[in-house]
Amino acid sequence: MSADSFLDALRDEGLTVVQVGDWRTHNRNHKGPWGPVHGVMIHHTVTRGTADTVRICRDGYAGLPGPLCHGVIAKDGKVHLVGYGRANHAGLGDDDVLRAVIAERALPPDDEANTDGNRHFYGFECENLGDGRDPWPEVQLEAIEKAAAAVCRRHGWNARSVIGHLEWQPGKIDPRGFTMNAMRARITERLS
Ligand SMILES: [Zn+2]
Repeated sequence: MSADSFLDALRDEGLTVVQVGDWRTHNRNHKGPWGPVHGVMIHHTVTRGTADTVRICRDGYAGLPGPLCHGVIAKDGKVHLVGYGRANHAGLGDDDVLRAVIAERALPPDDEANTDGNRHFYGFECENLGDGRDPWPEVQLEAIEKAAAAVCRRHGWNARSVIGHLEWQPGKIDPRGFTMNAMRARITERLS
């Protein structure tokens, strides 16, 4: 979908959206392909403070240029749009997982890193330290649910099109603090 459709989808789901700079054209399309898009990936940032979190996700850091996702979901539930197009969030993951996402069937274990995920997934980075202690406010969890559901609704996908980074790339632990099965159940409920 277009950047404007993405924005509309999020707003139509009831989210408060903050547009950051030239997010519509801030991407890594000059470095590789974008699309076809098959799903939504959820991450935690390992950062504290919304302003710093948004800045890092927009600009990236040494060795990993931004954007690092499309939307940053802050602790207060606001969604900050930092990029649109190819973004450095998913990295290499498992082709068997991608096939399961496309078919919307149960996920196999992610035990290979052989497929470019930045091409195929929308990415939401969620502000959390990812240490298992930093809380996930209900308003933030609800925003994750809404953001994922918004994208699924536009594409005609179900909740099985929504995965965590930890389900894509071996060694990843994000998001930590809630389970993706619980989040998918919420998204299913919202889409029903
Ligand atoms: Zn991640």
